[in-house]
Amino acid sequence: MFVDSHCHLDRLDLKPFDQSLDKALDTARSRGVSGFLCVDIDLDNFEAVKGIAESHADVWCSAGVHPTADDHGPLDGEVLKQLARSSDRVVAIGECGLDYFRGDETRELQLQRLDTQLAAALELDLPVIIHTRDAREDTLDRLRPFADKGGRGVLHCFTESLEMARAAIDFGFYISFSGIVTFKNAAELQAVALALPLANILIETDSPYLAPVPHRGRSNHPAWVVDVAHFLADLKGVSADELAEATTRNFYDLFSRATPGPIGMSSAGAVS
Ligand SMILES: [Zn+2]
Ligand SMILES: [Zn+2]
Repeated sequence: MFVDSHCHLDRLDLKPFDQSLDKALDTARSRGVSGFLCVDIDLDNFEAVKGIAESHADVWCSAGVHPTADDHGPLDGEVLKQLARSSDRVVAIGECGLDYFRGDETRELQLQRLDTQLAAALELDLPVIIHTRDAREDTLDRLRPFADKGGRGVLHCFTESLEMARAAIDFGFYISFSGIVTFKNAAELQAVALALPLANILIETDSPYLAPVPHRGRSNHPAWVVDVAHFLADLKGVSADELAEATTRNFYDLFSRATPGPIGMSSAGAVS
């Protein structure tokens, strides 16, 4: 059983599935994918991701604002917390973080949004999904004190250095690999994945983006998390079952409010 720990189900290209999200999810389920975390990128699309999570027992969602989401100015933490409390299908805050890939002119705004989301995560006792790109120092400087206060989370779609991965693991974070790790030009990232223990990693598609080999260039969907898993298993010299079991266990350890089972049976107290 695999889990896609990070997908954008409200943005999938459903043309190959007769415009049916259920068909896309069924395709993944038929390959052994048993859970999906549908990740929010802006307050504007929260209702869409929540709606998907509330109508599928094996889908959960997050609430958060991506570092490069359209500029609505500073994030109001009260609004975010209200959204996060609005459904027990919300199991994380994010994706949030820092992305200086195209320059850091929005650095102050990104830091304000990240700090607001880290504070909300601590208050609500939810893990964070961190997007980080070309912002190693600022990211670690923010996450270290967060972790010291009991904060938990994952660096998703990881593309940074082994040093950064180890620093994050040291303070209890997980590292999540997407289809990027399967790319032919990703030798450095493959070395990172090889060096990290199974106990610290998650797998994801980040669909509809970043389709893994052999689907590279096409619109990604959650079934292809299995291709990421097989690649990582081969790389690390373990069986696909072993990799699946470890990454699935890690997923439910981190996102502890994601409990498999019928909707409405969850004991999560997020609604109160
Ligand atoms: Zn991201
Ligand atoms: Zn994402």
